[in-house]
Amino acid sequence: MAKEELECSFCGRKKPETSLLIAGLDAHICDRCIEQAHGIVLEESKQSGNAELSSEMMLKKPKEIKKFLDEYIIGQEYSKKVMSVAVYNHYKRLLQPATNDDIDIQKSNIIMVGQTGTGKTLMAKTIAKMLNVPLAIVDATVLTEAGYVGEDVESILTRLLQVADYNLEKAEKGIVFIDEIDKIARKSDNPSITRDVSGEGVQQALLKLLEGTTVNVPPKGGRKHPDQKFIEVNTEHILFIAGGAFDGVERMISKRLNMAAIGYKAAAQDDVIDADNLLQYIIPKDLKDFGLIPEIIGRLPVLTYMDPLDAKTLRAILTQPKNAIIKQYQKLFEMDDIKFTITDGALDFIVEKAIEYKLGARGLRSLCEEILTDAMFELPSGKETKLHVTKEYAEDKLDKTTLKRLKAVS
Ligand code: ADP
Repeated sequence: MAKEELECSFCGRKKPETSLLIAGLDAHICDRCIEQAHGIVLEESKQSGNAELSSEMMLKKPKEIKKFLDEYIIGQEYSKKVMSVAVYNHYKRLLQPATNDDIDIQKSNIIMVGQTGTGKTLMAKTIAKMLNVPLAIVDATVLTEAGYVGEDVESILTRLLQVADYNLEKAEKGIVFIDEIDKIARKSDNPSITRDVSGEGVQQALLKLLEGTTVNVPPKGGRKHPDQKFIEVNTEHILFIAGGAFDGVERMISKRLNMAAIGYKAAAQDDVIDADNLLQYIIPKDLKDFGLIPEIIGRLPVLTYMDPLDAKTLRAILTQPKNAIIKQYQKLFEMDDIKFTITDGALDFIVEKAIEYKLGARGLRSLCEEILTDAMFELPSGKETKLHVTKEYAEDKLDKTTLKRLKAVS
């Protein structure tokens, strides 16, 4: 009997009809079937990319998200909790199976109110890092209504595409942080008093993006797309986080609280109002009074606030977060085999100066930089293997002129 001719177990082609036949345990596969199967695998992974990404995210429950945030962000307990829930719900929404129960989970876009330098951007960055999604940070002040000089709101999505390396699928699950949202507030409730060409118009233009829509985005700048003028981006699954200092909103909060106190004396006497941190009482109405249009407020349904940073928090920011400033310097010196230590007294001194000169958390870094520049210049070429920074050392490096200069740039 003739030796049984080998054939592909998938398509049945005989060995001579194929260019290649690979043997498995009990079967064979030809080159054509391999290619076809490969195509199917690629197609499948494209489709399940969504589920893969999301299931990874689903692993983190709000408490775990908060734990992750704790590693990088000091204090801001309320905000971290609110953000953890919002992010969790956002990705749950992304995963919601198509059911016909008519319950449509709405987007949980977020608005953060807090003084500059209290960690709003850091919060957005940390969440993006945790989820491993692209993050575009944009400044609302450069946005204008279409047709005016400045950038159209679509430029936000151009940024997102750029940071996602033009991977549309990734961009469409990314996060957009819109900084200084308070700067596009309507200047006055009475339009006749102040002419307000941009503010309200920009808010109107933002509405659709926030809600979820398909936008033609010019991929200008960065890479060339010879055969594509516009990229269609769907914002349905993009998480928008808006942040702003809302300078002066405290007055509105205080006015509202006082009015409530007059109306309901008994209740108000029980509640002691913490006048040093009025932002904690913020409600959507205050944002409206500040000049955000109700539709925008409606599309940023999660409202949270950032606490001002006190000395204790600033001190912790220097040393505690996973990539704390002091840890970064230690690593830098370590690369030159130099052991860098700093006394508590020196750390307290840095915090004291940051507060005195109103430099905030951002100033901590500039202060350290000033104190350590000489050492970072000298030590790598010397024989010294240690750097011990005391309060006296820090004082010596930070004279009044330096501090004044820091204040001027901050
Ligand atoms: P904002 O966006 O509110 O103006 P940032 O997030 O840009 O403030 O904060 C400025 C810098 O200050 C950050 O890079 C971070 O190092 C530090 N910082 C501010 N707040 C915190 C915080 N709560 N925990 C840790 N670092 C913080």
